[in-house]
Amino acid sequence: MRAAVIEEHGEPLAIEDVSYPEPQPDQVVVETEACGVCRSDWHAWQGDWSWIGAGVPEGQILGHEPAGVVSEVGSDVETLEVGDRVAVPFHLGDGSCPHCREGRANNCETVIPLGLSEYSQGAFAEAFPVREADFNCVKLPETVEYDEMAGLGCRFMTAYHALADRADLRPGDWVAVHGCGGVGLSAIHIANALGAHPIAVDLVDDKLERAAELGARETINVTEVDSAAREVQAITDGGADVSIDALGVAETCTNSVNSLGTRGSHVQVGLTTGEEEGQIELPVDVMTMQEIDFHGSFGMPLVRYEELFKLIAQGTLEPSKIIGDRLSLDDLPETLASMDDYETVGIPVVTEF
Ligand SMILES: [Zn+2]
Ligand SMILES: [Zn+2]
Repeated sequence: MRAAVIEEHGEPLAIEDVSYPEPQPDQVVVETEACGVCRSDWHAWQGDWSWIGAGVPEGQILGHEPAGVVSEVGSDVETLEVGDRVAVPFHLGDGSCPHCREGRANNCETVIPLGLSEYSQGAFAEAFPVREADFNCVKLPETVEYDEMAGLGCRFMTAYHALADRADLRPGDWVAVHGCGGVGLSAIHIANALGAHPIAVDLVDDKLERAAELGARETINVTEVDSAAREVQAITDGGADVSIDALGVAETCTNSVNSLGTRGSHVQVGLTTGEEEGQIELPVDVMTMQEIDFHGSFGMPLVRYEELFKLIAQGTLEPSKIIGDRLSLDDLPETLASMDDYETVGIPVVTEF
């Protein structure tokens, strides 16, 4: 089968013929119908994240935002059969640790990120295996299309958990979103749909325009102002209630914290780059005196999918609005490389394999 493989970190992905996956007893194999292209793929391709023990080896097949159809079923799998339409959240849990038993695969003690670990080949391929498939596969409602589900395995659900659960967003809240890539645009759309007032911050006008279409009340181009944080403070008359770093560099993180008002909540959804290696300076005294919270947010507990699907069925949330270009696997190497310059708008989705 065809797959996009890292031959060398930072060099264009190679489209290669690799063997079709054989399911282990706990696994299913899923034939990929759609898979989003994410900044996490770009980081892994660059060779980032070794500082948290999460780098990928050469030979890795990336791809962690997939939806598809079950094609092979391991001998121990009980709840899935050939032909089932499924999505697969990127954080593959073991299904048995205390966090998984609460439905929180995103906090699993032995989590294996799909397509971002030598133990899990990803979905930029005609098919891919899923560990502990009964636990990890999410069956798709008939009404959800494969391409719109692709973002629900990573960016869209990450943004939903960050806002609805970690930040406890309320209607009427001002929400500053720093970085308008896939997760940032998802956050704008979700905040707007949940009755809050999003402010989009980025340095690319095309992304800010898309943010405005998705419901941003105000947009700030950081290249045109002295301080994005001060702009947010002015617009909100004293600081945002919630602010998100949806990129993961020192500047967006500190801008986000400095955008907040008293008792505001910062949510970090982007992991950092080789510049920061996970270390960022923060204004701790101000955060203490103003009782500002700093939340980490990673993926989404599986138990939250039911609510997400309900909001999609009702038309409140429309993940298809965040989709950027639809690509074939052959286009992927170039699209990934274009993320060097933050050129992609919305979530590019591979739909032809
Ligand atoms: Zn992702
Ligand atoms: Zn677990």
